[in-house]
Amino acid sequence: MKRLLALLLALCLLCGCSAKPVTAQGFAMDTILSVSLYQGGSQALAQEALSLADEAEARLSCHREGTEISRLNQEGCATLSPETAELLAFCLDMYAASSGALDIGLGGVSALWDFSAEQPSLPEESALLEALSHAGADGLRLDGNEATLLDPCMQLDLGAVAKGALADDMAALLRERGVTSFLLNLGGCLYLSGGKDGEPFRVGVEDPRQSGSMLGVLYLTEGAVSTSSGAQRGFTLDGVRYHHILDPKTGYPADAGLLSVTVVCPSGLLADALSTACFVLGEEGAAALLAQFPQASALLLLEDGSLRVLGSLDFEPA
Ligand code: ADP
Ligand code: MG
Repeated sequence: MKRLLALLLALCLLCGCSAKPVTAQGFAMDTILSVSLYQGGSQALAQEALSLADEAEARLSCHREGTEISRLNQEGCATLSPETAELLAFCLDMYAASSGALDIGLGGVSALWDFSAEQPSLPEESALLEALSHAGADGLRLDGNEATLLDPCMQLDLGAVAKGALADDMAALLRERGVTSFLLNLGGCLYLSGGKDGEPFRVGVEDPRQSGSMLGVLYLTEGAVSTSSGAQRGFTLDGVRYHHILDPKTGYPADAGLLSVTVVCPSGLLADALSTACFVLGEEGAAALLAQFPQASALLLLEDGSLRVLGSLDFEPA
């Protein structure tokens, strides 16, 4: 009898392990989003988590009419929701911490670049310089939920942080509803919780030089993983690669000697902000920035093909 019970228990555990996750996919913020629930939750909950993306986009997009950010961009002042105000306050702190490398005030400049155009072209130099003269997130004033652009020509673009903030919101919802193991994949930003089948998640870090091949595997039970690289979005013109992560000093794609930056930390928002800022800053600047955030670690792929780990990561190179 005891043996039979033990066998049944073993079978139940095995079934539990091999049970298929509940999954749901959507599209928002110009990227495919996927939610996988391994322990707890339901299809309806996975969909509810995805619907947070539409809500976030309806607040934060600078490409759509009527969002909080578009209203602020158009009118120069706006009363924001507490969530948006909190996000902007975080971005102002990161602007200072990164010496301006993460600049959400770069919207006028990013609008001049079209990285998904069928026939891409470079922005006019004079237009770029003009837009750059209005950039700089320190021109944003926040007084509680009241936001003002001191320079009304400054335009905000939250593209560098929106997915990370969304990952945190989705993760909070899932935890609140008792999901103990899940994985969110929001383009370059992942959020993992609770390990998988009692083991840490294995996260492949893509090699930006060759699609489909890996730099190695990260082992992680809990937290966010954000990757910024020039391979994600961009075009090649006359043999030169132009990508979507811009250097706020020049208005042109950042070119600080890094091919990709992967940041691991407990918060999706911080991971997303840091990966973009580190990519702009380059190896030395990234090390100095990361030193301010002991909860974060990073994997840098340098232009010469070498890897550098900042902080501590459970990473196995390929
Ligand atoms: P992805 O959106 O591919 O995950 P990032 O998180 O690195 O990539 O953010 C890049 C986006 O952020 C760009 O598409 C642009 O909208 C905006 N952006 C580009 N450069 C900067 C910068 N230096 N600071 C803040 N935002 C930026
Ligand atoms: Mg980012």
